[in-house]
Amino acid sequence: MTDAPSGLWTGVEHARALDERDALPTLRDRFHVPPHGGGQTAYLAGNSLGLQPTMLRARLGEELDDWARLGVEGHGEARRPWMPYHELLRDPAARLVGALPREVVVMNSLTVNLHLMMVSFYRPTPQRHRIVIEDSAFPSDSYAVRSQADFHGYDPDEAVVRLRPRAGEAVLRSEDVVDFLSRDGEGVALVLLGAVNYYSGEFLDIPAITRAGRAAGAIVGWDLAHAAGNVELALHDWGVDWAAWCSYKYLNSGPGAPAGAFVHERHLSDRSLPKFAGWWSTDPATRFAMGPRVDPVDSADAWQLSNPPILAMAPVLASLEMFDEVGLPALRAKSTRLTGYLEQLLDRIEGPVEILTPREPERRGAQLSVRLLRHDADRTSARLRAEHGVIADARRPDVIRLAPVPMYCTFEDCWRAAHGLAAIVAEHG
Ligand SMILES: *Cc1c(COP(=O)(O)O)cnc(C)c1O
Repeated sequence: MTDAPSGLWTGVEHARALDERDALPTLRDRFHVPPHGGGQTAYLAGNSLGLQPTMLRARLGEELDDWARLGVEGHGEARRPWMPYHELLRDPAARLVGALPREVVVMNSLTVNLHLMMVSFYRPTPQRHRIVIEDSAFPSDSYAVRSQADFHGYDPDEAVVRLRPRAGEAVLRSEDVVDFLSRDGEGVALVLLGAVNYYSGEFLDIPAITRAGRAAGAIVGWDLAHAAGNVELALHDWGVDWAAWCSYKYLNSGPGAPAGAFVHERHLSDRSLPKFAGWWSTDPATRFAMGPRVDPVDSADAWQLSNPPILAMAPVLASLEMFDEVGLPALRAKSTRLTGYLEQLLDRIEGPVEILTPREPERRGAQLSVRLLRHDADRTSARLRAEHGVIADARRPDVIRLAPVPMYCTFEDCWRAAHGLAAIVAEHG
């Protein structure tokens, strides 16, 4: 590592001291951190793909052994029987998002869950068929809602309302979403927003927006892809109608890991809700009567279709156990300290960078998005990796996202990221 480019910089020793005296010691050695040179990378891309827990190989081995040893009998006799396997994830997933256990289920992938939720919760009429999303919604969410509008015979360009930030501002204000819903909510059937925006890292005011949307007569769903495992949530108490999230970002469950879904208690016994069904939607007590009609239970399990992929569920279970062990409040507190430190360092960079993410810690999670005013994001992130061992995420053309994930990132990682970025932009500033 080279010396600091300017006297304004605190040294790496300061970062190391912060690491040593932090209230939550890092769990870094319980993850495989990708190597760099003789050491490790500063991995700030856990908002794209979380790192692999080191115990996972053994945990997966247990499932493989049970399958080898038992064949089909593993459904009932595996150490974690496969038939009710998804039930093992229910309590920890509920704690993670602030739900009742019967309001959550781990299944499918995120976009699939968005669609399954919309089957039930987007029921447009000519008077009320609009879907409100943010203009900076993740593309999959945009495509999903447009295809739903189209499927129901509405013109997506008319039906989908994309909320934009105020002129000259980088992020949407929660109060503007509330105002919009209070003023123009009449024709809105569904609000679907990213709780933490993937691009800016902004954490929206879920309770206020949910209240405003429901008061306007709309259903309010949340995409928690960047919120689950990142910020504290209380979906049940906030009255959220439904939500869905993926497990491979902050939840460290591996590429394409099974996702989660939440349905508020008030909807669980509503038999008038349309649902797509499969054999896992039906009551397990009567599932093997193999009858012709589905007999759903009054829980989020009723949205399942298929028997779950055990080899893919095992990492989610192992990861949720880690979240229970450390606790989200402690992780969130550390995330606030790490992100605040990274912010201080980035603010010292003299030159062409600008933080897009809100400055208030309660309006963001473990992410800072940096706009490069004179540099290309792809090239900058490639150089960060090659020259500084920093893995960050580039969003073309000009944004770098840095996520100091509290499970395994350190103050030193933040220092390396800011220091590397400062060195690169200083060259032709
Ligand atoms: C990561 C992400 C997705 C990804 O969808 P998959 O179905 O898991 O591929 C969707 N929406 C948002 C907001 C995301 O951040």
